[in-house]
Amino acid sequence: MVDKVRGLLVGRLQPIHKGHMDVIKRILAEVDEVVICIGSAQLSHTPKDPFTAGERTMMISKALSEYGISSSSYYITPIQDVACNSLWVAQVKMLTPPFEIIYSGNSLVERLFIEAGYKVTNPPIYNREIYSGTEVRKRMITGDDWKSLIPDSVAEVIEEIDGINRIKHIHKEGI
Ligand code: NAP
Repeated sequence: MVDKVRGLLVGRLQPIHKGHMDVIKRILAEVDEVVICIGSAQLSHTPKDPFTAGERTMMISKALSEYGISSSSYYITPIQDVACNSLWVAQVKMLTPPFEIIYSGNSLVERLFIEAGYKVTNPPIYNREIYSGTEVRKRMITGDDWKSLIPDSVAEVIEEIDGINRIKHIHKEGI
């Protein structure tokens, strides 16, 4: 029996966009399975983190299906933040299937996993100026075209949960 090689992708994914989807496709070209961690799972209903972990799970699983990615090649795991950074990797390991390689664009995530002995890769998001969660959330508030930045299925979930009215209602504290 050959062991599977798993990669771990961590992100708040508020919401998942086409840049993240490209990263996931590139990860799956390198490893057998990807573990997608929804970071800051306890947060929702804020301008920077408008969507709940459950809503983000729905968006991610529908987007992966839309892109033809088999459900046998990924796991989706919400991870709550912890007060002690030095304990966070242990929390991630407790909640996820075993993994070998970390994919992250966040320097704190990189540092914590390097110190825990993991191989860390920084997969660049293409066309970063527009494929960014901040840009998607900004356009949701201003009424500019946000749908073209995210998979159609993610836009459908956001409409189903009345997400635009939610983010407009709470945006006064900044995005
Ligand atoms: P983040 O703070 O959500 O995002 C940081 C920035 O990196 C965002 O602008 C994000 O863009 C961008 N980014 C995401 N993937 C990228 C990539 N492949 N290339 C370039 N930029 C990229 O951080 P995150 O890395 O997405 O998520 C880290 C999660 O781990 C957070 O939820 C954090 O709270 C958690 N964490 C918790 C602890 C703790 O609890 N002690 C410690 C470490 C980390 P988008 O907005 O477009 O995604």
